[in-house]
Amino acid sequence: MIVSGRCQCSQVEYKFDTEDIISAHHCHCKDCQRSTGSGKATIIYIANKNLKLNGELKFYGKKGTTGMTVKRGFCENCGSGVMSYPREIPLLSFIKAGTLDDSSWLKIDSNFFTKSARDWDAPNKDIKCYEGNPDIMTNIKSVIKAL
Ligand SMILES: [Zn+2]
Ligand SMILES: [Zn+2]
Repeated sequence: MIVSGRCQCSQVEYKFDTEDIISAHHCHCKDCQRSTGSGKATIIYIANKNLKLNGELKFYGKKGTTGMTVKRGFCENCGSGVMSYPREIPLLSFIKAGTLDDSSWLKIDSNFFTKSARDWDAPNKDIKCYEGNPDIMTNIKSVIKAL
């Protein structure tokens, strides 16, 4: 299924096929809380080559706890956070799920950084929980195959 998303002012738009999704996650790390102004960021892993992005994003890079720098992209006009990527793995994109036009189909695989989750936005314990960063090695094969 081809799905689309956009920032609030529609200056940045994207499309992808749901078949190309690697995985989807809630991240409760402090950086995601601060950048979203909420309890977590909900992100979809997808290879860059499978993401058709139109429009100009501005990026802000910050080193995460793993030592990787996450570049968070937002629309310069309306400020919506649309996607991010790890500077060290630029072939991989993380779409912010809330920017999808219709996200009703989305299934979340796991929660990251549950140790910094707050009671007012408690992680769903029915899916896999990682206290901190997920062990990237558990997922690395599917990630590399997708890139
Ligand atoms: Zn915008
Ligand atoms: Zn995070």
